[in-house]
Amino acid sequence: MIERRKTRTVTVGDVKIGSDHLISIQSMTKTDTSDVNATVRQIRQLQNAGCELVRVAVKDTNAASAISDIKKEINIPLIADIHFDHKLALEAIANGADKIRINPGNMTGQDAVNSVINAAAEKGIPIRLGVNSGSLVEMAAGRGNPADVMVDCLLKYLEPFRKKRFNDIILSLKASDVSTTVEAYRKMAEACDYPFHVGVTAAGPPAEGIVRSSVGIGTLLLDGIGDTIRVSLTGDPLPEVDAAKRILSSVGVRHFGHSIISCPTCGRCQVDLVPLVEELEKEIKSITNKPLTIAIMGCEVNGPGEAKCADIGIAFGKNKGAIFRGGEIIKTVKVDDAVDELVKMIKEEI
Ligand code: SF4
Repeated sequence: MIERRKTRTVTVGDVKIGSDHLISIQSMTKTDTSDVNATVRQIRQLQNAGCELVRVAVKDTNAASAISDIKKEINIPLIADIHFDHKLALEAIANGADKIRINPGNMTGQDAVNSVINAAAEKGIPIRLGVNSGSLVEMAAGRGNPADVMVDCLLKYLEPFRKKRFNDIILSLKASDVSTTVEAYRKMAEACDYPFHVGVTAAGPPAEGIVRSSVGIGTLLLDGIGDTIRVSLTGDPLPEVDAAKRILSSVGVRHFGHSIISCPTCGRCQVDLVPLVEELEKEIKSITNKPLTIAIMGCEVNGPGEAKCADIGIAFGKNKGAIFRGGEIIKTVKVDDAVDELVKMIKEEI
C-alpha cells in the first residue's frame, strides 16, 4: 500500500484533486484553441480515452474567447494555460475556465499576478503554479542545484498567494530530466500541503517519453507524491492518456481493466507464445473492464508461480497448458484450445 502525502483538496470543475481523492489523469490539446471545432473534437477523443481534465493553450485573445464555446461542448473540466500576459488569464477566467495554469515568473509585475489571484478568488477557481526547467534563467545559466533553484522560485512565487490567503493552489515543478524532477517534487513536498500536478516536461517522442515519464512519475507516485498526472509526449495526445493509465495501474493506485502478465519467452519456451498472447489480448480487449490479472507463461520455470498469483493463468508445458484459477490448477488443455478456455473463464468472472 502506498501512503499518499497528505494534501489539501482542490476542486477543478467536478474533479477533486488531493490525497483524499483518486489520482486524476490530464492531458493537453495540441490544436489551435481558437479553432473551436478542432479543439472540441480532440477533447472528446481524449475524454473517450480516459482523460479526466484537459488543458488548452491560451496564447491570444481569440483563444481566450473560444473558451466559453468550447466549454459548452465538453463535459470534463477545462484548464487554461497562460504565459506572459495576465490579461489573457483574466479573460479565460471570465469565459469560464475551471482552472488557470500560470508561471508567475514570466508575468510582468506583482500587480498583474495579484489581479489574476483576485479574479480566480472571485470566481472560486484554482490556479496551478507551474515551474518548468526551461523557463528558469538560473538553470539555463547552470547556477545552483537545479532542483533547489526550482523549489526556491516556486516558494517565491507563492508569497503573494499566501499574503492574500489564496490556497486554491496546485503546484508543479517539471524538469526535462527525471532526477531533477523527482528531487524538486520531493523537496517541495516537505514545504507545503498543496496538491501536486506531476509530470516530466518535454519528455520527448512516444518511445522515449513514455519511459522517461514512467520512471519520473512512477518514482514519485511510489513515494506517495502526486495528485494528478500528465504524460507529455511529442505528437498525438491520445497516447499520453494511455501511458498515464498504464503508469497508475503499474504503481497499483488505480486500475483500468485487465492486466496481462506474460513472460518474455526464452530458449526454454514450450510453445509459440507470442501469437497466443496477441490473440488473448485481442479477444479480451472488448469483453471486460474488470481489473483482472491474467498470466500466460511459456514454461514450468516461472509459469506455475505467476499463474498461481494471477486471477486466471496458464503455464505451458510440452503441447499443453495447466490452467489456474484463484491459485489452483483447475484443468489441463491442449495448446490450440488455450486461448478459448481462458476467454471462457474471463467471461465467467465478469
Ligand atoms: Fe523462459 Fe519459461 Fe521464463 Fe518464459 S517462463 S521466460 S519460457 S523460463
